Amino acid sequence: MEKKEAPKSSLDALVSLCKRRGFIFQSSEIYGGFAGFWDYGPLGCEMKRNIKDSWWRFTVRDREDVEGLDASIIMHPAIWKASGHLDTFSDPMSMCKGNCRKLMRADQIWDLFEESALRETLAGMLGEAGKIATWCKGKGKAVAPGLYTVQHPEYLEKIFEKLKTITDVKELFILLATPEGEPEVLPCPNCGGVMTEPRPFNLMFKTIVGPVEDPSNVAYLRPETAQAIFADFSNVMVSSRQMPPFGIGQVGKSFRNEVTPRNYIFRSREFEQMEVEFFIKPDEAVELLCGHVAPLTETTDLSEPQADWGWECWHKYWVEQRKIWLVKNGLPEDSFVEYWQKPDELAHYARACVDIEYRFPFGVQELEGIAARSDFDLSRHQEHSGKSMEVFDEPLKLAVKKLSDEEKAAFRAKVVAEWEARGKTAEAANIFIDRLFEGRYIPHVIEPSAGVDRMALAMLCNAYEEQKLIDEKGKEDIRTVLHLAPAIAPIKVGVFPLVKNKPELYNFAREIFKKLQRRYNCFWDESGAIGRRYRRQDEIGTPFCVTVDFDTLEKDGTVTLRDRDTMQQERISVDDLIRRLDDLILG
Ligand code: ATP
Repeated sequence: MEKKEAPKSSLDALVSLCKRRGFIFQSSEIYGGFAGFWDYGPLGCEMKRNIKDSWWRFTVRDREDVEGLDASIIMHPAIWKASGHLDTFSDPMSMCKGNCRKLMRADQIWDLFEESALRETLAGMLGEAGKIATWCKGKGKAVAPGLYTVQHPEYLEKIFEKLKTITDVKELFILLATPEGEPEVLPCPNCGGVMTEPRPFNLMFKTIVGPVEDPSNVAYLRPETAQAIFADFSNVMVSSRQMPPFGIGQVGKSFRNEVTPRNYIFRSREFEQMEVEFFIKPDEAVELLCGHVAPLTETTDLSEPQADWGWECWHKYWVEQRKIWLVKNGLPEDSFVEYWQKPDELAHYARACVDIEYRFPFGVQELEGIAARSDFDLSRHQEHSGKSMEVFDEPLKLAVKKLSDEEKAAFRAKVVAEWEARGKTAEAANIFIDRLFEGRYIPHVIEPSAGVDRMALAMLCNAYEEQKLIDEKGKEDIRTVLHLAPAIAPIKVGVFPLVKNKPELYNFAREIFKKLQRRYNCFWDESGAIGRRYRRQDEIGTPFCVTVDFDTLEKDGTVTLRDRDTMQQERISVDDLIRRLDDLILG
């Protein structure tokens, strides 16, 4: 078959495939759905599990310097006070004062307008004052009943001349929504009403622990997995006999009461995260131990961690590690970008933060982030819990012992100056140095933090293709295929008997299926023409199909092994099949 350029696929087509084939369903669909919540069906939950397994293997199990953790979702509420989530984990929220009373994230109002049908309608009438007036008095009543000019059409006469000159659709929307004589308003993209001033809205879900509904029993569903890692830092370090640099990884559910969950599973209220807190020595400790801190340059070799790395090398190392994982799992390097947050975008305690952004069909958006968070988190927990979060570093103490008084004084002067240059006090610097000279410090942290659901969406978007094929007779056909990486694909191998009415052939295929099923998730399909069976597997991303046909039994004992992406089939002996599939699937 000849292959032709495929039409660009939209998110709608993917959403429909995901429902039809059992990847993702709307939560509580039989009751009309529940905004911001999603269910993963038979194939979706396999795919999600594969993403988490691959992350866990690469980030935790295959490394000697990362330990795992599975902490509880509901934790002592004091954790959220210490972390700052109780006071500052909020989004600016506005409510429509007009007809629809909708709540929206204030910073997303114009994005929602851009995506709305109302915008398209207004854009189509730009500069045509007469048309706009007719629309406000007619169709506008149904589409934008909250709009001031729809409710007060007499005002249209006063702004008629201005309506002729406006060339910007946003400006037009504001003009039509602003009541006569009042300052410009923020209009509701849903009904045209006026939005309230933004107010902070805390995103944590509250619950009550115990039988008494008292404010003292309020607890929260965790909005991130990271804080449990900090709270368990000492337990993990001591029990696993680790010392910085080492990390703790966790995969699990997080909950955020997002004001406007949107873009399918991109922003949900219940989602899963895969996070590592990688604890490192402060740069000052590295300097005392190694005599210097390795500078991060264009040519720094980041393939293997080194003892003289400071936070900059460690941070960049984790950015590179995450990119290696993404590419290994099927996202091509040109499908995402590295966005280095600018100094004024960084949280006050962060030294750097890189967002890895993926080109989703709805725009380039954050897939995951890698932040250098200094010692902020552990310091806060030390302060709030009264428990020490310091580590005692024997080699550091010994290194300090070897310094002369002059060398110590020079080191102190240098560090105080550096801290002051970063806006910290000399007093704080001196307390830190005194502890450091005793071999004690609070570790700093690098935090690679990814979302499982966003990752699944990026992988599905990247994998989806509608291929236009032309057969030997010149007939056009569309092949829908998910080019998922074998490690991520929910089903690894489809096994088919060519026909089902030849017991010997059927049983032979069945035996192969049983054997392969012990190694990977396989699918048995005996119904329909073989071409249709291949297509059904292509559509769900199954990378390989094995068919037992007449030649298997009558000639050479070989089966066909078909590749999803090339659609090529090769004959392979049953004895070689497992070894070959292991190479192709497990890598
Ligand atoms: P955003 O700016 O998109 O709200 P964030 O910067 O608040 O994200 P983090 O707190 O850094 O996100 O969370 C780490 C990762 O968790 C994100 O990169 C994303 O993959 C995932 N994540 C965060 N919020 C959600 C959500 N509401 N739905 C799905 N995934 C999420």
